[in-house]
Amino acid sequence: GETISIGELAKELKKQPKDIIMKLMNLGVMATLNQDIDFETAEMIAIEYGISVSKKLTEEEIEEKRYNFEDRPEDLTKRAPVVTVMGHVDHGKTSLLDAIRNTSVTTGEAGGITQHIGASEVSLKGEKIVFLDTPGHEAFTTLRARGAKVTDIAILVVAADDGVMPQTIEAIDHAKAAGVPIIVAVNKIDKANANPDRVKQELADRGLLIEEWGGDVISVEVSAIKNIGIDTLLEMVLLVAEMLELKANPKRPALGTILEAKVEKGRGPVATVLIENGTLRVGDPVAAGATHGRVRAMFNSHGKTIKQAGPASAVEITGLNDVPTAGDKFYATEEERHARAMAEKRQAELRVSTLRKTPHISLEDLFNQI
Ligand code: GDP
Ligand code: MG
Repeated sequence: GETISIGELAKELKKQPKDIIMKLMNLGVMATLNQDIDFETAEMIAIEYGISVSKKLTEEEIEEKRYNFEDRPEDLTKRAPVVTVMGHVDHGKTSLLDAIRNTSVTTGEAGGITQHIGASEVSLKGEKIVFLDTPGHEAFTTLRARGAKVTDIAILVVAADDGVMPQTIEAIDHAKAAGVPIIVAVNKIDKANANPDRVKQELADRGLLIEEWGGDVISVEVSAIKNIGIDTLLEMVLLVAEMLELKANPKRPALGTILEAKVEKGRGPVATVLIENGTLRVGDPVAAGATHGRVRAMFNSHGKTIKQAGPASAVEITGLNDVPTAGDKFYATEEERHARAMAEKRQAELRVSTLRKTPHISLEDLFNQI
C-alpha cells in the first residue's frame, strides 16, 4: 500500500521528526528519519495529534481508530480487577455477592442506599475490586459472544455439600476458553454435611488443580451466610489481580461496555457502564451501540453522584437518547457529532442484521437470572 517517510509526515503534521519517532517507538515501531512507514501507521500518528490526514476517513472512522488506538506505556497506570461470580445454581452466587458487598460497607465505604446498578465496587485495604452482578456464565458468555471481554477474574462458587455439578463444569470451560483465571470459593462450609475435600477431588478430576494439590488454582473455603472466609477471598482476588498487572490509561476518553440499561420514569434512559479504559466526565458526548447523547449525570455503585470516573469503574449514567443493549460498546468522543455518527452507523448495521434475522438477546434474558 501507500507509504510516507517520517520526514514527510513530520512536515505534513508540522511536528518535529523526533517526536514522531518517539510516538512510533511507543507503538513498538523502530524507525529512522528517512524510513518509510505505511499509511495506516502514519494515520495513527496523525490521529494521536488529533489531525486527520486522509480525506477518505469519515468522522466515525476517525473515532473508531481513536477507540482502538494503543495507549502509550507511560500513560498506563494500575487499575482495579473486574470480577465475575460463576457456578451451579443454588451454590450461593447471589449470597456470596451480598456478603462481599456487606463486607465493604462495614469497612467504611459511604453506606447509604445500596442501589442496584448491575455491578458493585468494593474496597479492601484501599484497593478497589469491581464485581459484575451478572448471573454467572449466561451473561458471561453472552457478553463475550457480543465481543465484550469484560472480566479479569472468575470466582467459581462450588457448594461444599453438593460438589461439582454440570454448571460448575460449564463455568470452568467458559473461563478457560476466555483465558480468565479462576479462584475457587468452596461455599457452605458451615453446613454439617460440607465436604470441601470432595470438592477439591472433583475439581482435580476436571483438570482444575488447586494449590494444595500441587496446582496453581487458588481455593478459599467460605460461608456466604455465616460470613466466613470472605476477607480471605477478596485478598486472593487482589493477589491474582496483582499478578495480572492490570493497567489502563486514565488520560484517554472513556471506553467500555454497557452492562445494563433501562428507561426510568423521570430520568429517561439509564445505563450502567463498565469503564474499561480512560476517564468519563459529566458532559462528555458518548456513543453506546445505536444510541448516543451526553452524560447528564453520573452515579457510582453506592448511588453517590460523581463528576468523573476512571478505568475499571462501574457507573450509572443518564443522558443517552435511547436505551442501549447490554454488551454494547460504549465510548466518549471529543464531539457530539462524532458520537451521533457512530450511533447512526450502528443503527444501519442493526437494520441489516434484523433483516438477516440475527437472534436478539433481551436485557431481561440477560439479567433476570441472578
Ligand atoms: P445462587 O443460585 O448460586 O445465586 O445461590 P443463592 O445465593 O441464591 O443460594 C442458594 C441457597 O443456598 C439459598 O437458600 C442460600 O441461603 C443458601 N446458601 C448460600 N450460601 C450459603 C452458605 O454459605 N451456607 C449455607 N448454609 N447456605 C447458603
Ligand atoms: Mg442467584
